[in-house]
Amino acid sequence: MIDVQVEEKDGVIQFQAIHEQWPSSEITSIHFCEKYAKEISKLQEIRQVLRDFDWIGQDPNRYQNTGFGNLSGRISEGFLISPSQSSHVARLAEDAYTWVKKSDIYQNRVYSIGHALPSSESMTHAMIYRLCPEIDFVLHGHVPSLWQQSLIATSPEVGYGTIEMANEIKRLFDQGMLKPYQIFKMSGHLDGVLLFGNDIQKLIQTVKQSIHTIAYGI
Ligand SMILES: [Zn+2]
Repeated sequence: MIDVQVEEKDGVIQFQAIHEQWPSSEITSIHFCEKYAKEISKLQEIRQVLRDFDWIGQDPNRYQNTGFGNLSGRISEGFLISPSQSSHVARLAEDAYTWVKKSDIYQNRVYSIGHALPSSESMTHAMIYRLCPEIDFVLHGHVPSLWQQSLIATSPEVGYGTIEMANEIKRLFDQGMLKPYQIFKMSGHLDGVLLFGNDIQKLIQTVKQSIHTIAYGI
């Protein structure tokens, strides 16, 4: 088990990661992937669309070639999330998604199992799952065409992947702005947009439309 805490800028983990490598003491990666084959295949399907539409990727002309975007899907215990530093990979292996078993938002701690550390924005995903029990997928993309629109937004002073971001999401939720739209932008995180829901085809449709316009009319 490794215990990592690093504080850096974009793309790097800002919480304490209590991470265990496969095989874990309770289950092997093969059995885990069999158990959650349906959820993993949905993540693979939507990740392909996110890559095709540049919500997730790595590009020498954007953000000093730092990888961007991530996605997660709820499972019976916690959620599966794309691993840290994986945005450049065209197609992830089935067992590449990191299992976030537990997250303690106010201790800034994430407990995970996987081949690699969980996405640096795991805490943000954790907060959305906590607030919206009916939600099964959270997608984070970098989408200039959406970010430039007047979407519901987190405060510009708040950085990505932090406890402050989790609190900002709670604020939007408490103000009734999170659930009706299921999309918001992070004003302090260039081009950063969060989209969530549980109808995979509807989510894919929104991603595809975002290149032109967004129909939320906020
Ligand atoms: Zn981001």
